[in-house]
Amino acid sequence: MQRTLSIVKPDGVKKNVIGNVIGRFESEGLRVVALKMMHLTQKGAEGFYAVHSERPFFASLTEFMTGGPVVVMVLEGDNAIKRVRGLMGATNPAEADEGTIRKDLADSIEANIVHGSDAPETAEFEIGYYFNAMELHG
Ligand code: ATP
Ligand code: MG
Repeated sequence: MQRTLSIVKPDGVKKNVIGNVIGRFESEGLRVVALKMMHLTQKGAEGFYAVHSERPFFASLTEFMTGGPVVVMVLEGDNAIKRVRGLMGATNPAEADEGTIRKDLADSIEANIVHGSDAPETAEFEIGYYFNAMELHG
């Protein structure tokens, strides 16, 4: 069993596809073990995406992520990190495989609907960033 953090980003909430995204995870046998809707602060978004702080798109990314509410969740299942990344598709929706969340729903490399942890260490950091032990229901 493995846990991963996923976020329906502000564009996904605005497009009314929260259930669509979560439904795809559930249909593949991943379980939601924690879930909350929140509006990220600038500091909160900067801390979450700190690994990208030197990237040219960092300011734009944090502005985008604070532009509206998001839905943050923890998903559990065998090989959850890789499976969620597979369902999401490539960062740039133009390069994402058919049938993936980003191919089907996303507009641009920035407004790409969904986040998923990319490795066990990042999953641990990201889950702890948004949830405490009492909020995890595995
Ligand atoms: P995420 O971390 O959100 O799951 P990812 O792992 O596919 O996405 P990263 O390289 O970690 O992609 O980039 C984090 C986020 O930053 C992307 O999802 C996207 O919203 C934004 N981003 C990445 N590259 C660019 C870019 N070249 N221009 C604008 N925004 C970008
Ligand atoms: Mg990433």
